[in-house]
Amino acid sequence: MSYFYGPVPSRRLGFSLGVDIVPKKLCTFDCVYCQIGRTTKKSTRRISYVDFNVLERELRDIIRKSPKIDYITISGSGEPTLHKDLDKIILTIKRITRGKLPVCVITNSSLLYREDVRNELKGADLIIPSLDAATSKTFKMINRAQKGIGLKHIIDGLIKLRREFKGKIWLEIMLLGGINDTLREAEKFKGLIKKLKPDKVQLNLPVRPPAAAVALPSSSRVNEIKKILDGNIEIVASSLKARRSKLIQSTECQILNFLKRRPAHLDDLKESLGLNSYETMKSLKKLVKNNKIKAYIYRKKKYFVTHD
Ligand code: SF4
Repeated sequence: MSYFYGPVPSRRLGFSLGVDIVPKKLCTFDCVYCQIGRTTKKSTRRISYVDFNVLERELRDIIRKSPKIDYITISGSGEPTLHKDLDKIILTIKRITRGKLPVCVITNSSLLYREDVRNELKGADLIIPSLDAATSKTFKMINRAQKGIGLKHIIDGLIKLRREFKGKIWLEIMLLGGINDTLREAEKFKGLIKKLKPDKVQLNLPVRPPAAAVALPSSSRVNEIKKILDGNIEIVASSLKARRSKLIQSTECQILNFLKRRPAHLDDLKESLGLNSYETMKSLKKLVKNNKIKAYIYRKKKYFVTHD
């Protein structure tokens, strides 16, 4: 499987070329809202997984085809900071792109309290760390972290990151109905945000099929929370604007690559991969028929996912 996917139109990053550097699904958390599925290996041990020669070759190929790319985003099938030598990956990307493309790292913040991890992230341009809980109780309910990782580690890491990191930090909060969407929690988030000083806060919603049943907060509650938090707060829209991306793989390959990372419905695939209904439906039917993917219904929508 390739280390890269996309570029796909991202709700937050324009056209984002994804880099997937850890095996599915290795994470320090097992979040109730995770769209990749249950964590099969929960760990805090950092290992180097990437073959740098392959990574370089693949990235050169993609860049040569010159698709529109706004960000190169390190995230993928688990927690990317579990990859040792992240700095080398960032440096390799910067070298191949001659520093012309900004690098973003999406992290669950669990290992930011470690100095080695923060040092390895220094070459990134943007970090999107998560903070889903303002109390230990909700942290336990939502993130189901590996033993030894508590909310205090997350907060400590985020404070240190802000102090040391020169790039932009967009803090992401996933709002879950009935868990962390109370006004009391929002007040606590407000206090934390003051300490963490992110450039922007993004309120996200579990709009894709999650690992466990989670509820969407009402839009009035989301707006109330936004008001309480005050400042540079953005609600991440639930739907992507359709934008065509240049196709760099065959349609089926693209769909399969996309579904290996997360489930998606027809519109999601069309918009993310820049395909039309006819070609997407045709490829989905073929992939289902060949038993490469399966379909299921979630919240009255038909989703597709790979078997593994
Ligand atoms: S949502 Fe992110 S942090 Fe949470 S389990 Fe999934 S991959 Fe890990």
